[in-house]
Amino acid sequence: MDYPGNLFVVAAPSGAGKSSLVKALLELDSHVQPSVSHTTRAPRGQEKHGREYFFVSGSEFDAMVANDAFVEWAHVHNQRYGTSKKAIEERMAQGADVILEIDFQGALQIKNIFSNAVCIFILPPSWDELRARLERRGEDAPDIIELRMKNAQAEVIHADKFDFVIINELFDRALFDLKAIVHSQRLKFSAQRRARAETFKALHIP
Ligand code: 5GP
Repeated sequence: MDYPGNLFVVAAPSGAGKSSLVKALLELDSHVQPSVSHTTRAPRGQEKHGREYFFVSGSEFDAMVANDAFVEWAHVHNQRYGTSKKAIEERMAQGADVILEIDFQGALQIKNIFSNAVCIFILPPSWDELRARLERRGEDAPDIIELRMKNAQAEVIHADKFDFVIINELFDRALFDLKAIVHSQRLKFSAQRRARAETFKALHIP
């Protein structure tokens, strides 16, 4: 599948800062659009249906799987999460860059389908820092923090399958790195030829 827009996929262990980085990128760059996933988990806090997620029942999720509506889906923390075809294909066909914030299993599935997808893994600078961030966040009981730490150790092993790695030690530096990755895709020959068709024509570049 070849679309004019780029597809960025960001994965990270929980607590590495993935959501904050993606949120900051979206605020700075209106050409990048988020994909809204479907999930079987219940909304938390101020979350709204259709904004953070489409919150669906297990049977609605099953029906979407049966109808081949997902590009990828995975079990994460005992719930199911999936990216619908609709969430990304329309936007990419219109030329927008789409960013997916999903778990590593989903990211690897996306890479198999969209070979041009740009997969980015966010790492914490150390295990001590990851634990400190999870504790500072104050969202999880100690046993959940232990579980997240254990899961994180299993997840980072897959970092070698990603195109880019960002170490989120200093937030501003990590955001700079993320912006640089996004920008570099827009400077690729094929992207420039599409975006600057008139200039290429005037320069007689085929
Ligand atoms: P949370 O419930 O905290 O919002 O998300 C839990 C995990 O599920 C996070 O790692 C998040 O990135 C991941 N996730 C969210 N949406 C999707 C999706 O559509 N597909 C996959 N594979 N993972 C997702």
